[in-house]
Amino acid sequence: MTANAFQTTHGFTPEGEWAAPGRVNLIGEHTDYNDGFVMPFALPHTTHAAAARRDDGTLRLHSSAKPSHTVQLRIDDLEPGGIDNWAAYPAGVVWALRGAGHDAIRGADIHYDSTIPIGAGLSSSAALEVVTALALRDLYDLPLHPWQLARLCQRAENVFVGAPTGIMDQTASACCTKGHALFLDAQDLNHRQIPFDLAAEGLCLLVVDTRVKHTHSDGEYGQRRRGCEEGAAALGVNTLRDIPYEELDAALAELKDESVRRLIRHVVTENQRVERVVAALEAGDARGIGPLLTEGHMSLRDDFRVSCPELDLVVEVANETGALGARMTGGGFGGAAIVLVADGISDKVAEAITTRLPGARIFPAAPCAGAQRLR
Ligand code: ADP
Ligand code: MG
Repeated sequence: MTANAFQTTHGFTPEGEWAAPGRVNLIGEHTDYNDGFVMPFALPHTTHAAAARRDDGTLRLHSSAKPSHTVQLRIDDLEPGGIDNWAAYPAGVVWALRGAGHDAIRGADIHYDSTIPIGAGLSSSAALEVVTALALRDLYDLPLHPWQLARLCQRAENVFVGAPTGIMDQTASACCTKGHALFLDAQDLNHRQIPFDLAAEGLCLLVVDTRVKHTHSDGEYGQRRRGCEEGAAALGVNTLRDIPYEELDAALAELKDESVRRLIRHVVTENQRVERVVAALEAGDARGIGPLLTEGHMSLRDDFRVSCPELDLVVEVANETGALGARMTGGGFGGAAIVLVADGISDKVAEAITTRLPGARIFPAAPCAGAQRLR
């Protein structure tokens, strides 16, 4: 389908087609930029790219999500902050790849299709970057593995687009594997693929896209990040990662500012929750992670203060209706929540949520493959 759309837009057959998924984060929120732990898995929703090389220094980009736009750019003219539409993400990837010395890239025609809800906290931006990076890597035969692609995509989003995200989203899209959640240490990118077989345990994980996005979310994200940096500086550590759970009380006792204390408490307890979720899953106790999800939500709501009434409502209704646990996922202030529920009552829980939040879009999700070449 994407290849056909490419043919219609560009007038010839693409050289290949690639896919990169969106993600949900099972646990470990607002921890990646504190060098902590995260645990995303890949969604069945993907962004596809059909692409072909060009040798004239031109990038021609088209997305079915933005049908009125074919964006044409000169790759030698790309500079951070220079593009104020969606094309900044893929152009940023070209800029980051060339900046890392991969100047074999002389241009490309790319058409994108996506089934990832855009702007819902499910990382459509990272999927767009990663699918672009993978296509260019293969087309230009660049010696890059998925972990390096993820880093370059993060650089594209941070520096070229100007959105200060951590490393989780791009790594999830590039490196997740089917049937697993990716336990990732954002400090050194150490990782383990943790089996997360919902069906075998009679479980279902619902993703609830609230379709709400509170407009101040970007500013709040930056504020939380700065608060975490202040907290780390006040405690004389590099990042909040360096505070072990056992030393949390002592660390908090050193600080006066209540809002900074709360940020620190969230990050340190959240890192510990990730480790507890890993331990439960490795012990074959997927049900046991339910209460940890809900605990994580409370911490994001009360200490990190990035939830919103709609996300709180989803968690409350899910738990009242018999879910094993639920939490907001992603940056917060809208976007999505996840609900862990026994198979038999997933319809009942989903119905209860839609009754109270009629705009919500709900789908089940099991861990899918990371980015790959399709043909
Ligand atoms: P999220 O990553 O949670 O979906 P972001 O705000 O980080 O939300 O990224 C959304 C932006 O990414 C969109 O506004 C758009 O610019 C770009 N984007 C994502 N997917 C596509 C796509 N398939 N086509 C065009 N632009 C896209
Ligand atoms: Mg994003």
